[in-house]
Amino acid sequence: MERSYYVATANAFAPASKLEGEISADVVVIGGGYTGIHAALNAVERGFSVVLLEAGKIGWGASGRNGGQMIPGWRKGAVELIATFGEARAKVMCDLGLEARALTLARISKHKIQCDLRENGHLTLASKPADLNWMRAEVEALSKTMGYSGSRVVSAEEARAVADAPGFHGGLRDGGGGHLHPLNYAHGLAGAARDAGVQLYEGSRVLRVDTSEGVVAKTEAGVVRARYGVMACDALLGDLDARLAVRIMPVANYLVATAPLTDLPVRDDLAVSDSRFVVNYFRMSADGRLIFGGGERYTPHPPSDIAAFGRKHMGGVFPQLANAAIDYAWGGLVSISMSRLPHVGRFGDLFFAHGYSGQGVLLPALTGKVLAEAMAGTAERFDVLASIAPPEFPGGAALRSPLYVLGMLWYALRDRL
Ligand SMILES: Cc1cc2nc3c(=O)[nH]c(=O)nc-3n(C[C@H](O)[C@H](O)[C@H](O)COP(=O)(O)OP(=O)(O)OC[C@H]3O[C@@H](n4cnc5c(N)ncnc54)[C@H](O)[C@@H]3O)c2cc1C
Repeated sequence: MERSYYVATANAFAPASKLEGEISADVVVIGGGYTGIHAALNAVERGFSVVLLEAGKIGWGASGRNGGQMIPGWRKGAVELIATFGEARAKVMCDLGLEARALTLARISKHKIQCDLRENGHLTLASKPADLNWMRAEVEALSKTMGYSGSRVVSAEEARAVADAPGFHGGLRDGGGGHLHPLNYAHGLAGAARDAGVQLYEGSRVLRVDTSEGVVAKTEAGVVRARYGVMACDALLGDLDARLAVRIMPVANYLVATAPLTDLPVRDDLAVSDSRFVVNYFRMSADGRLIFGGGERYTPHPPSDIAAFGRKHMGGVFPQLANAAIDYAWGGLVSISMSRLPHVGRFGDLFFAHGYSGQGVLLPALTGKVLAEAMAGTAERFDVLASIAPPEFPGGAALRSPLYVLGMLWYALRDRL
């Protein structure tokens, strides 16, 4: 994280102190990424007193390391949602996905968050000619069933005019997409939460959560006693709660930022990704660098040279950048669920949301709001999200990793073939 472009260009954020001693609140939130901060902000706005405990620094999990790509909706597209849930439920899901985008933009605007926001759209490049078939079906389902007319299929020429990369066959352009500086967005949200009255603590890893009477979160040096709790630890959950761990798989992913470029490989300030299973994603930073992510690894150990790892994948997409100077290289853990849909729910008074499967820049604005709604007694939308819970990984926490790695390697191999 220290070697990321985002830390190098972070806005000032006053650090929070470590929790010491015993305090009480209406709500204790565990985890200071987008999910935790949005839940805390929404809860405090509803009149709850809120304490947020972050193990490390605010925004230093996936929320401050990601590609910054704002991709509206869920990791499953409209066609798949309809096939899985039927038209009526899929439409509700689609509306919720679009609401997540609107809520994110509203937060950035309301709190005047300086995060290099760009709203020019997102382009998914077709890596194979056959991808255009599902892209056409997706545009049709979005417009006919979901009433969303913001996406369209573009030709290979139009795609090349945006992303100067050979070998793509066109793409799916969604006008609702965009990108932002993820760490500055997290810091801006946390600042707004602090201003609204949320008590933030950093360096305060929760070691145990006891739910026998309310929710009691214990750190090394302190205790928070609360009526409700929110688990918002995502891929960094570790062994804090085995019931949550079996629904997600942490997958390591790496990014690089080039030196500022004069010949922009991505134009129109779009966020771009490709249609491979092991996805490549890229965009320009506000100061003209290509920020490129890709090449998952199925071990938690980073490559010995992250810049070289990223350069290899970047050069595969943009041959003209095979020798480009790389100024920053970093990585993080993405949480993937079996269904690629998030796991939202509650165990009594302990709420949770995690497992956005690589699409968690926009969705936490929704999940955080919906969790606070449920705490306040309105569970309609919470129930919708809880009803899409992904299944457990086969073999539970012990076997999920080797079995899943085998599956992922199979798909990665298919990408290559
Ligand atoms: C490399 C990478 C690239 C990505 N690119 C994109 C992208 O371009 N677009 C997109 O939409 N999504 C992307 N994602 C996914 C997105 O970043 C995540 O879905 C989202 O940030 C999840 O937010 P979160 O708050 O749930 O989790 P996090 O941001 O990971 O926050 C969890 C927090 O909980 C804390 N924590 C963990 N355990 C404890 C404990 N015991 N006590 C206290 N605190 C604890 C952690 O320290 C951490 O700060 C990417 C993710 C990664 C890693």
